[in-house]
Amino acid sequence: MQPDGRAAPAGLGTFPRRIERLGELAYNLWWTWNPSAQRLFRRIDESLWEQAGHNPVYFLRNIKRPLLNAVANERSFLEQYDQVLATFDAYLAAEQTWFAGEHADLVRRPIAYFSSEYGLHESLPIYAGGLGVLSGDHLKQASDLGLPMVGVGFLYTRGYFRQRISEDGWQEALYELLDFNNLPVRPVTGRDGTPLTVSVNLPGRDVAARLWQVRLGRLSLYLLDSNVEGNAEADRELTSRLYTSELEQRLSQEIVLGIGGVRALRALGYNPTAWHLNEGHSAFALLERAREYVAAGRTFAEASQRVRETTLFTTHTPVPAGNDEFPLWVVEKFFSSYWGELGLERDSFLDQGRNRQAWGESFSMPVLALRLSSRANAVSELHGHVARRMWHALWPDRDESQVPITHITNGIHSATWLARQMGALFDRHLPEGWRERVDDPLVWEAVRRIPDSELWAVRKHLKRKLVAYIRERTRRLWLTDHVHPVQALAAGALLDPYALTIGFARRFATYKRANLILSDFDRLLRLLNRPNTPVQIIFAGKAHPADEPAKRLLQEVYRLAKRAECGGRLVFLEDYDLNLARYLVQGVDVWLNTPLPRQEASGTSGQKAALNGGLNLSVLDGWWREGYNGRNGWAIGEDGLTAPEAPPAAEATALYELLENEIVPLYYKRSADNVPGEWVARIKESIRTLAPHFSTQRMLKDYLRELYLPAMQLAGGAQPLPVSSSSPS
Ligand SMILES: *Cc1c(COP(=O)(O)O)cnc(C)c1O
Repeated sequence: MQPDGRAAPAGLGTFPRRIERLGELAYNLWWTWNPSAQRLFRRIDESLWEQAGHNPVYFLRNIKRPLLNAVANERSFLEQYDQVLATFDAYLAAEQTWFAGEHADLVRRPIAYFSSEYGLHESLPIYAGGLGVLSGDHLKQASDLGLPMVGVGFLYTRGYFRQRISEDGWQEALYELLDFNNLPVRPVTGRDGTPLTVSVNLPGRDVAARLWQVRLGRLSLYLLDSNVEGNAEADRELTSRLYTSELEQRLSQEIVLGIGGVRALRALGYNPTAWHLNEGHSAFALLERAREYVAAGRTFAEASQRVRETTLFTTHTPVPAGNDEFPLWVVEKFFSSYWGELGLERDSFLDQGRNRQAWGESFSMPVLALRLSSRANAVSELHGHVARRMWHALWPDRDESQVPITHITNGIHSATWLARQMGALFDRHLPEGWRERVDDPLVWEAVRRIPDSELWAVRKHLKRKLVAYIRERTRRLWLTDHVHPVQALAAGALLDPYALTIGFARRFATYKRANLILSDFDRLLRLLNRPNTPVQIIFAGKAHPADEPAKRLLQEVYRLAKRAECGGRLVFLEDYDLNLARYLVQGVDVWLNTPLPRQEASGTSGQKAALNGGLNLSVLDGWWREGYNGRNGWAIGEDGLTAPEAPPAAEATALYELLENEIVPLYYKRSADNVPGEWVARIKESIRTLAPHFSTQRMLKDYLRELYLPAMQLAGGAQPLPVSSSSPS
């Protein structure tokens, strides 16, 4: 079938013929999880590669032609080029994907995936935190397994903000206007060559959104953008930022994502057989799909039944800020001309999302999603309990344990998060083909046989790389931003590549309690500054710009980092993003996580650290409650589900005791060859037990079996999947 939309040609100019496919490579984010492809670009001009923020499109637009000519004649470069492209071609051409092998009859039944953010790479700043990184990892893994998935989201014109920290520790948010021409995205055009747009109705006007295509290995992600000529000025800004706090703008955004997103897939010729809503922001998609059925002659009851059968919903957080709801009057204002098209009246329409609480009623996006989906899941076992309790009121005649919300614990896309050097170590010691079988625990048994000294050498290398990177960033602050010297110390100028290094990096939300480890500051100082066993702690993270308590928390951390008594061993790194995240999860020795009990739905950053040989030190919340086995890291406090809530001071004490009595001594207990044997044993236990299960490879197979397949198998007859709409150039 001929698709209705296709991406315009790359337009990067011409390259020497021998290496002309560099442009094609740049526009497929396959390079984000293939280090050899990134190294190919870097090799041409290392400083431009850094300056380009590892963005090959910007890089190729700005590269000096003589440099391209030079590598086009360099034998070793060409060998590398040929090898990368051969791997790329083999990946794209593989008819026999895992999915095709398992479900040949379903390869043409698309699964639509909706998310308000995607964390794919630092050069595409359309993510805020864990939710986005999970969406990105989900799609990458779907591509690897060959699932017929198509993604829908936003291309935010200003992306997520860049964070600067003032001398006094106050977070400043900078919104840069992105130049889409320099991003690895391409505009989608219709048959007539003009940009493909979809439109949605907002009070008193229609708003158009155009579409951008991101190629992600074998699949496509389509991003909506309301910055279109013809839209009112304010509407052009609708999709400019993530998670705006302005009520009507937020609602408008979600209408563009949900309703506009369905219309976008239709305009592209997709007829998905399963629809996966990643969090409630996109739940209006379900109303739009019901509207389609009603327009085709069904009643709303029939329509909503059909929608339900093919819809899956994932809830990601118990925290109120993550569960969007709107006052009824706003929803009424925006939907009064829409509910008639559903065959509904005001009240029956509002019932779809109605959430009754002590203080009154609201229209809740998760409620809407739960009502109009047949399957829903939380993102860890513990979160499953929390979510069933949280939404029990929607199923008042059921026992809490019978609330139909299951759980699928989050994982990470191993190829994205694994350090190249650690991957090379695994190549030497794991069975051949391990990368295709990362979810197979048997593969990881071989970790036991890696010689301690080899594993420790890679760990040392990764920490040196982290410290060198941080010092270089600090030098730039000092050189070009002219910060106060003490800010350079707080930014890591004195970090020691050999000291035990603890990392704490994630969004700065108060429930994540970055300050738990700071609560007894004198005790902490003694730990940091012991002469022969130094400890250093690296913090990073952005607070939502409207979250004042979180910004004050960040300031508290920063002010302590500047104190002389810390000796430069307490560090705050500004502008946390995927690049910094990679350095941190690959380089630190211990990954710390201390959220309030039952508030961290899953967490994934600790999984990234574990894969690279970092050890988790975490409360038994989210994924760690399932991952911890007593030997593969450390648990702070009691079981997060059953234990009574401990006072924070008791948790802090437990944390200090672990550090003082176990963690620090273990790290500094060296054998004759200066290898900490017991520490390395823990690393092996951690990798062996955590890497297979907490991978998106395991996760996607769970999603497929439990959530997607029932919907896909329901749909009668083969559904055309317009494969060619996603073909490069
Ligand atoms: C993995 C990741 C997160 C999520 O971290 P959690 O510990 O799960 O909250 C947030 N931001 C970035 C940049 C990440 O890479």
